[in-house]
Amino acid sequence: MNVSERKLPDNLHRDTLAVRVALDRSQHGENSEALYLSSGFVQPDAETSARRFSGTEEGFTYGRTSNPTVTSFERRLAAMEGTEAAIGASTGMGAILMMCMGLLKAGDHVVCSRSMFGSTIALIGREFGKFGVETTFVSQTDVAEWKAALRPTTKLLFAETPTNPLTEVCDIAALADLAHGVGALLAVDNCFCSPALQRPTEFGADLVMHSGTKYLDGQGRVMAGALCGPKKLIVDVFGPVVRTAGMTLAPFNAWVVLKGLETLGIRMQAQSANALAVAKWLEQQPQVARVYYPGLESHPQHDLAMRQQSGLGGAVLSFDLRGDDVATARKNAFHVIDSTQVISIATNLGDTKTIISHPGTTSHGRLSEEQRQAAGISQGLIRLAVGLDHIDDIKADLSRGLGGLDTLA
Ligand SMILES: *Cc1c(COP(=O)(O)O)cnc(C)c1O
Repeated sequence: MNVSERKLPDNLHRDTLAVRVALDRSQHGENSEALYLSSGFVQPDAETSARRFSGTEEGFTYGRTSNPTVTSFERRLAAMEGTEAAIGASTGMGAILMMCMGLLKAGDHVVCSRSMFGSTIALIGREFGKFGVETTFVSQTDVAEWKAALRPTTKLLFAETPTNPLTEVCDIAALADLAHGVGALLAVDNCFCSPALQRPTEFGADLVMHSGTKYLDGQGRVMAGALCGPKKLIVDVFGPVVRTAGMTLAPFNAWVVLKGLETLGIRMQAQSANALAVAKWLEQQPQVARVYYPGLESHPQHDLAMRQQSGLGGAVLSFDLRGDDVATARKNAFHVIDSTQVISIATNLGDTKTIISHPGTTSHGRLSEEQRQAAGISQGLIRLAVGLDHIDDIKADLSRGLGGLDTLA
């Protein structure tokens, strides 16, 4: 019996697709996806080799172009995002580099939110600026600002929702309408929600970008990235970029993330539930001035977030400590962070282990105090990427530092 790839019934649920799609079995009939560590692929004959190299026939040739394990990851992620296709990249930033190289040329214009991931702003604004690509950075939440920024040369709108660390949410459908009105594309960085909670193409986005390093792997092991979208862009535009520029996803990393996708749904549910419980608890602590979390009714875009994110807030939240001046606020924040005994002090997110960080001196540390204040990043701000630690242990760990704040000078 040939078990290499059984035809799956149509209309399977997303949970089933996450564990079943793209299980390309070898002759051995393994039940877990095989890992193909091979940089080159043997061709049956010179004619076949020629057809595969010219792209008229499918087939693996060389690892920079494609690999069976990477292809399995791409097919499974596309099924979960509901897009025709996906393409892997070495990291999330590699995916953004691939997107910009594929879509933009000198004289083209991009509109981005100024609350986006710091390296994204540096890559598009600074690096692509060198090659004559112009970028306008606008408010994350004010659609009128996005509209006012559009030009005849605008080719791409790039949004991220929710953002890091203040969890600001943008209206994907409204931005898609703006983009399409001027013949541009809308790409969405879907790192914080993952396809388990939010599928941007359902709201009109053209491309979805991922850092597989975050929730897709979900256990803090490897770097990975991907773009999801229509075949004509993935195969015809981005495929040649990866093949020539080489931001290729390593097969081992693809395999780790492929297996991570199988548990993505239950992890996002459980970590969102944990985050909501921590957020509600933090709102009640007298030392906390404000909690930023889309799952809270106090969040300014709560209703929009619930519509876009399957009714869940995701697993990242931030909170501001009370503190009269910059120095006191920072001292208090460091005290809370340094008093933890369980939670990891790190800047990553999307791990099963809860992670605590101080944006003001890490992700936003290179900004001037004025720029930071304009971005709403105070020295008393703490970010928490909530994992699968028991909720009572997370609260107890935060209480150690919060409890001591009253006695600090
Ligand atoms: C981490 C991250 C990236 C970049 O991903 P890497 O895998 O670290 O290159 C991009 N966007 C967001 C929102 C992220 O959190």
